[in-house]
Amino acid sequence: MKKYIGCDLGGTNLRAALVDVESGEVLHQKSIPTLAREGHDAVMGRMADLFLQVIRSVGMQKDDIGGIGIGVPGVLDLEKGETLFLPNLPGTWPHVPLADTIMRLTGLPTALLNDVRSITNGEWRFGAGRGVDTVAVFAIGTGIGGGLIVNGQLHLGIGGTGGELGHTMIDFNGPRCGCGNNGCLEAYASGPAIAAMGMKAVSQGLTTRIAELCEYDLNRITPELIAKAAEAEDEIAKDIYEKAGFYIGIAAASICASIGPQRIIIGGGVAQAGELLLDPIRRTLRKRVHIMPVEQVEVVLSQLGDNAGVIGVACWAASMNEQI
Ligand SMILES: [Zn+2]
Repeated sequence: MKKYIGCDLGGTNLRAALVDVESGEVLHQKSIPTLAREGHDAVMGRMADLFLQVIRSVGMQKDDIGGIGIGVPGVLDLEKGETLFLPNLPGTWPHVPLADTIMRLTGLPTALLNDVRSITNGEWRFGAGRGVDTVAVFAIGTGIGGGLIVNGQLHLGIGGTGGELGHTMIDFNGPRCGCGNNGCLEAYASGPAIAAMGMKAVSQGLTTRIAELCEYDLNRITPELIAKAAEAEDEIAKDIYEKAGFYIGIAAASICASIGPQRIIIGGGVAQAGELLLDPIRRTLRKRVHIMPVEQVEVVLSQLGDNAGVIGVACWAASMNEQI
């Protein structure tokens, strides 16, 4: 079977990996700065060069490559292969024919997929979602991304917009979310929301290890630092993770009711807190879900780390090729 290229188009870095889509192995990878301020034409040119370089550097020819998958941070028109709105890239890339342009520049079939749906596909095929057919993924970082596998298929919805689990509403009167709605999970349990809980505790003058660890500099408070304080048995830090896990659990309870997942995967930088976060999620689910066998729902950490997206989108490109 031919190898595929999986690409992660990030606001800061462009990463391309050569992936064996039968084993999920990353055979080679290279990362370069996106230089997004130069505009989409320049970025697409650099992407195409990067792909060709990756192919050459392992001594392969274009004929050995089945195609390219690009994980894109934003909203896409999957049918046209266009980007519609990439909030983290200058200019936001409205109606940029990304798939056609890369196909023209490289001569290889190219498929697009949202970046967190790429991660979802990767974790399902070769990571924490292996062996089950209905999975929900929460990727908790600067925002909260998500993705769903339903009945053995990556769920897309209109234009691939389905699966935005970070925008599950957990309080319709809640604080404003970046998406324009109120009370989305992302406004409560993203990395910045968790850090903000730590900042509030320190600025209120509460006695907490968080204050010592950040040396009373609020800007140094991160979810990681709060996790460190919690591991040292700091009650306030433990309470912050308890709250974050509760909020995620509330959103996950709605997902249990709607899709009956066998597994819920928690990934992203904040998931490094491990059991500090998973434990309250599990407890909240057990308390709040009664309509389905919640004791059978496993809540686990993601397994593929930074490689999930490039592996997932390479597999996506392969599955698109098989359909032709
Ligand atoms: Zn939202």
